[in-house]
Amino acid sequence: MTTTAHGYAAPSADAPLAPFSFERRDPQPDDVAIDILFCGVCHSDLHTARGEWPGTLYPCVPGHEIVGRVRAVGSDVTKFAVGDVVGVGCMVDSCGHCASCADGEEQYCETTGFVGTYNGPDPVLGGHTFGGYSDQIVVKQGFVLKIGHDEKDLAAVAPLLCAGITTYSPLKHWKVGPGQKVGIVGLGGLGHMGVKIAAAMGAEVHVFSTSPNKREDAIRLGARDLIVSKDEDAMAAHTGTFDFILNTVAASHNLDQFLMLLKRDGTMTLVGVPEEPHPSPSVGALVFKRRAIAGSLIGGIAETQEMLDFCRDHGLVADIEMLAMKDVEQGYDRMQKSDVKYRFVIDMATLEK
Ligand code: NAP
Ligand code: ZN
Repeated sequence: MTTTAHGYAAPSADAPLAPFSFERRDPQPDDVAIDILFCGVCHSDLHTARGEWPGTLYPCVPGHEIVGRVRAVGSDVTKFAVGDVVGVGCMVDSCGHCASCADGEEQYCETTGFVGTYNGPDPVLGGHTFGGYSDQIVVKQGFVLKIGHDEKDLAAVAPLLCAGITTYSPLKHWKVGPGQKVGIVGLGGLGHMGVKIAAAMGAEVHVFSTSPNKREDAIRLGARDLIVSKDEDAMAAHTGTFDFILNTVAASHNLDQFLMLLKRDGTMTLVGVPEEPHPSPSVGALVFKRRAIAGSLIGGIAETQEMLDFCRDHGLVADIEMLAMKDVEQGYDRMQKSDVKYRFVIDMATLEK
């Protein structure tokens, strides 16, 4: 049995998102049915909806930064009750038994791959999954997160479900903490959460940006300063001094200018996934100081819960601009121009059915 849901979908790569109705499964024994309150707007939504990455299945209902309230639970659900405030991030399922799933790293599931909250294979109804730009969603309890923040902050909590975990996970994996000099490249949705979280972990944080007008914000968010990445002298002053750099840029760019800033054994981890590849990095910049370039994908479910609790305990939420559902294309256009302070969040109460 199914229930009709309402949302917004991209009908094709070059058509704007528009109202769209579709079916959600009724909760199975292990499922949680959620009325969606807020959904953050991630650059991955834009890449997917506009066909910048290969493999988008249309119609595409994006959205993987979901906060909502439990409407119903299946008979086997023990972790959640009707009325609970919960979150759903980028994944709604995985195989559950490969080495990565066993390690709680479901995002690296080795058999089926994780099932994306949108644009994944729907394991129950067939077809593909539809995301959080909609009024409701039904998710296996193992992929639902508990939200412990104050209810007045729920809109600003939504971006933690992707931007928060995608920055928390590598910062933790590379053991960022007190005494370390950490760079965050790109002050957008991911980057501004990276600044807040790295500062809360005790690191000295510097932002690299193409937008000089974001300096005051960078410092308010917890950074020591903002370095304009086009300013060669300002960049050169930091040569060989960084322990770790987290690069969140959504477009192809020169990586060498940041590699040169790493100390011996420093790592730059890429989380941005641009449409076009980066120019090949210089081997010399890597070998002469045993520097590394790495990548990182979101984070596991247990780690996402840990991140949510960390953010609650440190008083961290995203800096957001509220967006009405019908204005999502304007939101995408501004995101494309790096003009968001610092994450759009859709108020699902604005969805006209
Ligand atoms: P966003 O809000 O648009 O932020 C990206 C920032 O990158 C911009 O604000 C801008 O910061 C900088 N930037 C943009 N174009 C640039 C260019 N041509 N050269 C240099 N810098 C540029 O995007 P987001 O939502 O944070 O997502 C960032 C990327 O991460 C996207 O590619 C997204 O798909 C990807 N992502 C990956 C994962 C993962 O698991 N690995 C998860 C979520 C998202 P300044 O104005 O400061 O320069
Ligand atoms: Zn995302």
